[in-house]
Amino acid sequence: QEEGRVYNFAAGPACLPYNVLKEAQADLINWKGTGASVLEMSHRSKQFLSIIQKAEADLRELLAIPDNYKVLFLQGGATSQFSAIPLNLAGPEDAVDYVVTGSWGSKAVQEAGKYAKANLAATGKPGKFTDIPPQSEWKLTQGAKYLHICANETIQGVEFKEYPEVEGETVLVADMSSNFCSKPVDVSKFGLIYAGAQKNVGPSGVTIVIVREDLLGKAQPSTPVMLDYKIHSNNESLYNTPPCFSIYMTGLVFADLLKQGGLAAVAKKNEEKAQLLYDAIEGSDGFFKCPVAKPVRSLMNVPFTMRDPELEAEFLKEATAQGLIQLKGHRSVGGVRASIYNALPLAGIQKLVHLMKDFQAKHS
Ligand code: PLP
Repeated sequence: QEEGRVYNFAAGPACLPYNVLKEAQADLINWKGTGASVLEMSHRSKQFLSIIQKAEADLRELLAIPDNYKVLFLQGGATSQFSAIPLNLAGPEDAVDYVVTGSWGSKAVQEAGKYAKANLAATGKPGKFTDIPPQSEWKLTQGAKYLHICANETIQGVEFKEYPEVEGETVLVADMSSNFCSKPVDVSKFGLIYAGAQKNVGPSGVTIVIVREDLLGKAQPSTPVMLDYKIHSNNESLYNTPPCFSIYMTGLVFADLLKQGGLAAVAKKNEEKAQLLYDAIEGSDGFFKCPVAKPVRSLMNVPFTMRDPELEAEFLKEATAQGLIQLKGHRSVGGVRASIYNALPLAGIQKLVHLMKDFQAKHS
């Protein structure tokens, strides 16, 4: 571990690769001899254009994004997309389907109801969001404009391992905020993918939208200009002042992921990391317990509880003392949650597993 640094298990904003932080630090005062930092650069300058264009090109390479998809760098967080998606892809009287597998999907469907006929096609709520309802039970609407899923529910730790097929004109829409660029994805299966950067690919402030071109230009007339994908697409994400520094940092992360060998290599590391932690939980004889059904356990967010909940506070205190920070579960579900995004190194998980074993031995 680098001098003075901790292992940061935060759900987001999350840890960033050390080498990326160092690069940004070096650029901060004087970007490539320009005498100014990216923080101070006009978004219309040729320097910034080179930054945003490289970020897009690298992301296209990472995800093998087909040419008929636009990449947008937007503001307002993934939360703004909860409104932008129905506004852009549906009319007020159109049906849109939502399969809800956790807290973020719940928020998305609630927002969509303001702008379209949002149908809750399935929800994991009765089972406390510990599993994905079987597809045979989904009540999909024929002719729905889209089917929305949350690819990885950050709070509950439930992740789609395979994506559902859609029929007819319906397109698949996915919130990939918390597993974006953690593994390869077949973009052509989706009408739209969106993700806030602040978990796997950068700081907060920029949200990435990947959208099939033919879906653009049909926004509801009342759509605010800042939520209209066509406007941003026509202006190459420079309709207004974009989150320049967040885009720059995200670009550094994309380049770093390519350097690591691309998303197949990254996925392999993520699988190994998650396996180590889930094995430790499973091997604890119920001292630690993960409530999520095994086939849908997230490789990014690992929630777990302790047999004796009274010990949780002590466990978290001990973890913090050892430089393993932000392990407290989300306030809505409690327990412990280890967010182990791309930038969290294997050594951090090894240290956490070591602590878990020690702690159990001390308290058994
Ligand atoms: N969707 C998912 C899956 C998330 O994890 C989050 C934030 O944690 C959001 C949406 C909301 O993102 P933002 O805070 O960027 O609006």
